[in-house]
Amino acid sequence: MKTLILGAGYAGLATATSLKPIPGLESLLIEQNAYHTFETRLHEAAAHNTPVTLPLLPLLRGTGVHLEQARVDYVDLDEREVGLKDGRVLMYDTLVVGLGSVTNFYRIPGLAENATELKQLSDADDIFNFVNRTFDNGYQGNRDIVVGGAGLTGVELVTELAQRAELLSKERGLPPFNIYLVEAGPKILPILDEALRAKAQQTLEEYGIKIMVGHRIMQATADSVTVQTQGGEQKVIKAGKIIWTGGIQARDIVRGQKIEKGPGGRIAVDEFLRAKGYSDVFIIGDMGLALNQEGKPVPTTAQHAGQQGRTTAKNIMNIVQNRPLVPYEPTTLGEFVSLGGLMAVGWMKLPWNQKLAITGGIAHVMKRASEWKWRSSVD
Ligand SMILES: Cc1cc2nc3c(=O)[nH]c(=O)nc-3n(C[C@H](O)[C@H](O)[C@H](O)COP(=O)(O)OP(=O)(O)OC[C@H]3O[C@@H](n4cnc5c(N)ncnc54)[C@H](O)[C@@H]3O)c2cc1C
Repeated sequence: MKTLILGAGYAGLATATSLKPIPGLESLLIEQNAYHTFETRLHEAAAHNTPVTLPLLPLLRGTGVHLEQARVDYVDLDEREVGLKDGRVLMYDTLVVGLGSVTNFYRIPGLAENATELKQLSDADDIFNFVNRTFDNGYQGNRDIVVGGAGLTGVELVTELAQRAELLSKERGLPPFNIYLVEAGPKILPILDEALRAKAQQTLEEYGIKIMVGHRIMQATADSVTVQTQGGEQKVIKAGKIIWTGGIQARDIVRGQKIEKGPGGRIAVDEFLRAKGYSDVFIIGDMGLALNQEGKPVPTTAQHAGQQGRTTAKNIMNIVQNRPLVPYEPTTLGEFVSLGGLMAVGWMKLPWNQKLAITGGIAHVMKRASEWKWRSSVD
């Protein structure tokens, strides 16, 4: 059975590294980069240039999966073909699509043109270089940073940037820049409960981050954003760098007459993670719209992408060995938000669906532990 796995993110890489070389299975992983990116740590790369990639080839040893570094142009489920940017067209018996998500700019005028995203290594490099430039003695421009979106990514990013600014400020004797965290909704980190959110908010305030909840970005230019309060009052914030972390949508690269799409353009899948209407196609990670035990969409997180990848690998081997498929059973083991340095807040799942709230250094260790767990699962 010829199996193509598209994307070596959390979902695709978990599939590839969970496969075993079994008779009758021929698998090819197609990824545009020669490395896997730890997307969950891009904010650290943006502030401190921390390494956040892993070369793919060594990770595939012993799996029987081959790697092709290429860019996918389109996927046509009705024709059963994958078109590559270099013009080649590949056929498959079974297809796994894990090409992730792209930033959603919600058509806010000027935002896509003027804001940096935080989705890949080049975005992190761009932010890192800006921060360094602002501490050059000859730098003349505006040094302030506006981050739009106070979800997990935005909050993790501003705390790391504040730390970096503090460090460079001491080193080079210049004042730190201002960081504005702008959020249209009424609160930061809506995924957390009240007590953890309050702790996170206090940490941000201690860093001197200017939190502007209830402020919607209405437009952006090269050096400013215009924000509006719920009461209709408008303000202009001048900035040297605008970063948008306010939303994602599934990568729009798959076509097929029977495809059903849900919120964020995610492709509806059945209990085995197969695209509805296409029993040979698994859509996993941020692109897929899997439902949990209560019928609610599974969150777009690395944790769930990895689980989906591992279930899909089992099912590919089950198909080859003529065994029944196993359904996907999502579990959220916990959620942690890093707040710069050794600080984090979050919760972990306990037996009987209890949650244990954790803050401070221990939460930081838990967050790191989940990253190490991911790394050792693919290594
Ligand atoms: C800064 C940041 C912090 C985050 N923090 C957390 C966190 O703490 N916890 C958590 O659970 N989640 C977190 N997330 C979300 C998490 O990273 C995503 O949910 C996860 O990466 C989704 O996995 P995926 O495999 O679907 O996609 P991805 O990991 O994005 O992988 C997609 C892969 O497809 C490749 N690709 C894309 N297009 C093409 C193409 N045309 N051709 C070939 N290859 C292609 C990409 O290079 C990439 O390797 C964070 C995200 C960001 C941006």
